[in-house]
Amino acid sequence: MIQPLPTDTSYRHSPDAGDPDCLCSRCAGRILEHEGPLRMYTTNGAGEVDENSEEYRYCEKCMAACGIISYGGIPEWAPGSHEIEDLEEDPEEGL
Ligand SMILES: [Zn+2]
Repeated sequence: MIQPLPTDTSYRHSPDAGDPDCLCSRCAGRILEHEGPLRMYTTNGAGEVDENSEEYRYCEKCMAACGIISYGGIPEWAPGSHEIEDLEEDPEEGL
């Protein structure tokens, strides 16, 4: 797992991946548009994210170094996952 380290940088803004300001908390490298950065937030005393929360975000390279990747969707081999049947298209739709 990845955990924020004291040496990581936290941010008070949350630009989209690909934005020049979207920098990795760990390596300070730009997070590119195709990456799915891992974002974590500090919480207030009630365990909620609020306007004082700070964001830690990690690029794919730093995630990979910690043994994790971001994944688009739920893999079939994930515990408890099941295949979703393709919805049959209604041939009359759109007529
Ligand atoms: Zn990084």
